[in-house]
Amino acid sequence: MPEKIIIIGSGPAAWTGAVYAARANLNPLLYEGAISEENRLKGTLPLGQLNSTTDVENFPGFPSGILGPDLVDAMRQQALKFGTRVVTEDIVKVDFSTRPFAMKDSAGDSVSAQSVIVATGASANYLGLESENQFKNRGVSACAVCDGALPRFRNQPVVVVGGGDSAAEESIHLTKFASTVYVVHRRDQLRASKIMADRLLALPNVKPVWNSVVEEVFGDPQTGVTGVRIRNLKTNDTTTLPAHGMFVAIGHTPNTAFLDGQLKLDSQGFIVLKEPFRTLTSVEGVFAAGDVADPTYKQAVTAAAMGCKAALDAERWLAEKDVR
Ligand code: NAP
Repeated sequence: MPEKIIIIGSGPAAWTGAVYAARANLNPLLYEGAISEENRLKGTLPLGQLNSTTDVENFPGFPSGILGPDLVDAMRQQALKFGTRVVTEDIVKVDFSTRPFAMKDSAGDSVSAQSVIVATGASANYLGLESENQFKNRGVSACAVCDGALPRFRNQPVVVVGGGDSAAEESIHLTKFASTVYVVHRRDQLRASKIMADRLLALPNVKPVWNSVVEEVFGDPQTGVTGVRIRNLKTNDTTTLPAHGMFVAIGHTPNTAFLDGQLKLDSQGFIVLKEPFRTLTSVEGVFAAGDVADPTYKQAVTAAAMGCKAALDAERWLAEKDVR
């Protein structure tokens, strides 16, 4: 028997979709992702981006803030409470050309469903330098919250690349461990929200390096990163910053590769929604929610709201098709 609904993902969009789908008696089956080294390196472990963040101060209902991992775990508990069944594997292959839809998971099992919600989120971008790749796990990271407390960074200078809220948040976190946090940004002002930018720039061990890009990561093959070469985009001068770590916080790419072109994507890889304010994709019966379909807002609360909409859209669609 095919499932009525399969939800792929495990961030706020997926868990909210599961709560709504479960309460609508759709008996959802949710693939939260596999716990694997590959997913750790890609930043696609279960529970998504919230699980690797610190304080969340802007999710309504928590006036004193809440830790990201606690928030997403509470969402998971709520979905389980209403009967969501969870599989700790990735969906690695989909066939949306057949009905019911056919899918394969990372354990090699096949599964089928009348409707699907894709809520696979987005994962961190890297600069794409060969030397950066060489030192991943040996000083190069895209998650200060996961790796910042490691001994290699204690009382040592580190570099953060980027100028958005993620760069600000990661840098603030790193100031607790590192001697100096160099924030290397390609412009002369941060993109981060004013409250985050002000908080960051007020810290005594933060040193902004404006109008600059990292050109190369230096290091020792055994011990890891020792520094980075930066280039000032205004003067073209290059300098070397001593650093035991480089944290890359330059935005995210939606996790849509596993779809293998079966849903319409935009030029950046985000799933295209057919109508504003809805969650319908290019394939009838497949819905999308959260960062994977949101190039604009990318907030935990907007993802949760989209998850709710996707479950309601799926419920209505299944009712129209008379799937019980
Ligand atoms: P973002 O806002 O897109 O910022 C990415 C930053 O990386 C920008 O400053 C960009 O520079 C820079 N950048 C991009 N590509 C680069 C490259 N190849 N080389 C060097 N620099 C590059 O991404 P984000 O900081 O990950 O934030 C994503 C969303 O999550 C935002 O909506 C943000 O508000 C939200 N968020 C919120 C919180 C919070 O509220 N606590 C925390 C984290 C994230 P330019 O500025 O020059 O474009």
